[in-house]
Amino acid sequence: MDLMNYIGGKFEGHSGGKWLDVKEPATGNVFARVPLSNSTDVDSAVRAAREAQPEWGGLGSNERARWLDSIADGLESRYEEIASLESRDTGKPISLARAVDAYRSVANFRFFAGEIRSHEEEVFEMSDATNFVSYRPVGVGALITPWNLPLYLLSWKVAPAIGMGNTVVCKPSELTPMTANLLMEVIDEVGLPEGVVNLVHGDGLGAGSSLVSHGDVDLVSFTGGTSTGSEVAKAAAPQFKKISLELGGKNSSIVLDDCEIDSTVKGVVRSGFLNQGQVCLCGSRVLVQDGIYDEFVERFIEEVESMKIGDPSDEETDLGALISAEHLTKVEGYIELAKEEGGTIVTGGYPCLPEPLANGNWIAPTVITGLSVDSRCSTEEIFGPVVSVHRFSEDSEAIGIANNTRYGLAGSVWTGDIERGRRIADSIHTGMVWVNTWLHRDLRAPFGGVKDSGVGREGGKWSLGFFSEATNVCVKHD
Ligand code: NDP
Repeated sequence: MDLMNYIGGKFEGHSGGKWLDVKEPATGNVFARVPLSNSTDVDSAVRAAREAQPEWGGLGSNERARWLDSIADGLESRYEEIASLESRDTGKPISLARAVDAYRSVANFRFFAGEIRSHEEEVFEMSDATNFVSYRPVGVGALITPWNLPLYLLSWKVAPAIGMGNTVVCKPSELTPMTANLLMEVIDEVGLPEGVVNLVHGDGLGAGSSLVSHGDVDLVSFTGGTSTGSEVAKAAAPQFKKISLELGGKNSSIVLDDCEIDSTVKGVVRSGFLNQGQVCLCGSRVLVQDGIYDEFVERFIEEVESMKIGDPSDEETDLGALISAEHLTKVEGYIELAKEEGGTIVTGGYPCLPEPLANGNWIAPTVITGLSVDSRCSTEEIFGPVVSVHRFSEDSEAIGIANNTRYGLAGSVWTGDIERGRRIADSIHTGMVWVNTWLHRDLRAPFGGVKDSGVGREGGKWSLGFFSEATNVCVKHD
């Protein structure tokens, strides 16, 4: 299957004639090709977006919200197809693709339709004047997304961006283009005005960097790795583009000795290994208090070893394949490094899977103990099914460990004492902390990180703020 770019309301060929293979992570087989687009293709897409912006931005917010609802309806009618394409493209279990990826992609469009409908101009009275604050579109947005949650993250950007009157050019990861293509099909079917949403396939260094540095792009919303984020920031800065960076994480799950152990074990395993540990929010370092350490670790290992790894299309599968052979090599490198750093691999290894899965990117969920809290393996983002477990005594020690990485995205605290949980959560330098839960998202709440985990917040009114320019008109009273 050959995918095409979507520019100015048309699926069209790309210049240069080069293609990239798309491989199925579970088998290693090539099942599609995407255009290796270049700066000429990016130019066409940005031009189409620019031409469409004035009319689109001039529509009322209710009208734009109706378009978001139509896209949500279109996606909902292809719910199962989204799940199965996402599972095949990323290697994640079909049950997860259905419950998380397909669900959230529809929910994102519906949620932002509601937010945009209720978003109002603000008014600030002075004794002698009135200030009116309105939210204008920024212009043309570049939306760049990674491979771990392809449509979930793309829809999280497209919906508020076009909802606020911008037009956009999307650049999904070259590794997982299938559901971005499906979104363009839906957009085409519902008849969204041409040029409002455009998509250019290709790699980061070609299409991605041309898009970010394009002189006619006003805003960049990027989700991906920290080092790529730094390149994106450098390219966008000279032109003072509005920028949001959602980057990597190395998040701690803090298990206190007063926690309810059954639900904590399940929650911490889910947090460590969901999507094969390839979620920026994953709790890849587990800090366990002395009093519960032995019992917790024993139960944790049992739960990890009970997970079923294998065919992503099997409804019973808990863990699928890693995204690519290159990424598997990187994860393996960290496991080797962990041994050199004095760690003990308590569980892990390679599953032995039958054809046609034998050549997929497989690795068993891996738990490491004995690492120092400032070792590379326990402070750097591995982004795979690898968790290190550490012991602590006092709450202050756990807080110190949680804060000793360059990242500051998320974390979780597990305790029977909510006040204690909140106190600890307040001391962790991240954008988000969950108490007795993980990845429990209210779409109205802010999402984003501090330190090397990013710049800015998205979600609810923060997304509406980012994808608009607040403008103040001050009228002096007579
Ligand atoms: P990358 O940073 O490698 O890529 C992200 C996107 O950027 C891809 O579409 C990529 O294209 C593109 N890209 C690469 N280089 C450039 C460039 N110079 N200019 C513009 N675009 C470029 O991340 P991954 O895809 O490997 O995703 C994993 C990372 O994403 C992890 O670090 C994870 O923590 C982070 N992430 C953060 C989230 C958050 O909300 N904070 C959520 C999800 C993931 P291509 O791949 O096609 O080359």
